[in-house]
Amino acid sequence: MSVTRLKGEYDLVLYGLGVMGENFIRNFARNGRRVIGVNRTVAVTERFAREVAQEEIADRVGTAETLAEACRHLKSPGGAVLAMIKANDPVVEPWGPIDDLFFKGSVARYGDDDRRNVPALVDIVPEGTVIIDAANSHPHSTKRRCQEFARRGILFIGTGVSGGSEGALKGPSIMPGGSREAYDVVGDMLEAAAARAEGACCTYVGDNEAGHFVKNVHNGIEYGIMQAISEVYYGLQQVVGLDYEGLHEVFAEMTGGSHGGYLMEISTAALAMKDAATGRPVLDVILDRAGQKGTGKWTSQMAFDLGVPVPTIAAALQARIMSSFKAARVAASERLERHTSGAFDAAERDQLLWAAADALYGAMVAAYDQGFWMLREASGAEPEQNNGLYDFTLDLAEVARIWKGGCIIRSALLDPIREAYLTDPELPSLLLAPYFKQAVGCARFQKNWRYWVCTMVSQGLPCDAIAASLNYLDTYRTARLPANMIQAQRDTFGEHGFERVDREGKGFHLEPA
Ligand code: NDP
Repeated sequence: MSVTRLKGEYDLVLYGLGVMGENFIRNFARNGRRVIGVNRTVAVTERFAREVAQEEIADRVGTAETLAEACRHLKSPGGAVLAMIKANDPVVEPWGPIDDLFFKGSVARYGDDDRRNVPALVDIVPEGTVIIDAANSHPHSTKRRCQEFARRGILFIGTGVSGGSEGALKGPSIMPGGSREAYDVVGDMLEAAAARAEGACCTYVGDNEAGHFVKNVHNGIEYGIMQAISEVYYGLQQVVGLDYEGLHEVFAEMTGGSHGGYLMEISTAALAMKDAATGRPVLDVILDRAGQKGTGKWTSQMAFDLGVPVPTIAAALQARIMSSFKAARVAASERLERHTSGAFDAAERDQLLWAAADALYGAMVAAYDQGFWMLREASGAEPEQNNGLYDFTLDLAEVARIWKGGCIIRSALLDPIREAYLTDPELPSLLLAPYFKQAVGCARFQKNWRYWVCTMVSQGLPCDAIAASLNYLDTYRTARLPANMIQAQRDTFGEHGFERVDREGKGFHLEPA
């Protein structure tokens, strides 16, 4: 029996029935759109067709065996095809599944040995269709695709989507970029599907790869915050000796206050969770090896290309990489002893609890600040000096607003961040915004942050993201750094020349008196 069940005309074809795609279809349908679901593996479409037939949205959701069939039922003009499939890493795989789908041709898989070719999307979409890439695509790939679509006269949007499978169903944060004309066609549909926070958590963020760039920076911030939260839980457990009940209490208090946000909520919930199979605390049965799909690596790579410091994000990435060497770490733990610089004094327990909260807050602010620094730098970049990349302008206050709902990094901090950019769109660093300066610049707060890092270091426990964040603050607020020595070294071995404090110009050389 064919899985193609189509009746009349549809607003949208959604290709890719993974957890994100199928829930996104339900979301669009609940918002009154008529949507067709298609997937490479036809058995998945079959399963989806059976499930959705039992749901209240059944009459608005069709399924098709191939994209070609689906496109024949798309409204024209004004219809859209949204792809939500696995993205490629442009370094290891310059041409990926999304490029095949759009420009070369895809396949419909009926079984291991039965694959049928489907023409490229560009050759089968009706005139006036908007093509949307909603995968986590690398911004540089999106830029290339924008150019290709523009050359063919096809309207294209590359959009970030954040919120996981639940967000896709109930309302994610959506970060569309690309053709403004395309957004004028599909903007209403996307905004209706998005979460709400002072309006829809979806806005046209900018030309070209802007949408995927904003999403990628979001992922970098996510890495930083997740790592900092993990470090605080670990430190309080290992140093203070809090059990899961105690940890949950401390985290619940922070989550209910200025640290609140989705990542804190799910971490707090994890602290209270028991494993169904063993009854043990779930965190005790989860292996300490964090996976990654590479988006944090992309954020760091692009930050370095843009010349933006992202120590919190890079530390989080490196911590995940280090965690992946489980066997090596276990072996090393048996051969390299941990010598601490004295035992932790139990009388200082309460001080460390306060320190934990401030250190975590500081790292969170640092992660957002580095992300927004990247956004600001990319927005003002000269595309001619960046291989044509970063040809877009971003409204930072609006980015903060659309991250306030639906997305993984939604948090209480985004209100003052938005306020800071509304007050001063050119703000060089969030650390200088009055709201954050009051916290991060205050003596008690800084002492607590330092106390946390000192304690972890003295006890021999890693605190990558929180220490990197503190170094970020200290580097940023230091008027004279030791980079004078770097200049002297570079001139000595490479005759690179240096600048002086007392004269204008470059290219001075070491001339010992
Ligand atoms: P996956 O990233 O696991 O991708 C699964 C989907 O991709 C399936 O429909 C699969 O088809 C399809 N697919 C994989 N390889 C190919 C290929 N070569 N050609 C055609 N189709 C292919 O699923 P998710 O739903 O988690 O994510 C979808 C996209 O959304 C990804 O780009 C992801 O990065 C992004 N995203 C995911 C989020 C999440 O929380 N999961 C959040 C935000 C964005 P088949 O069934 O045939 O294998």
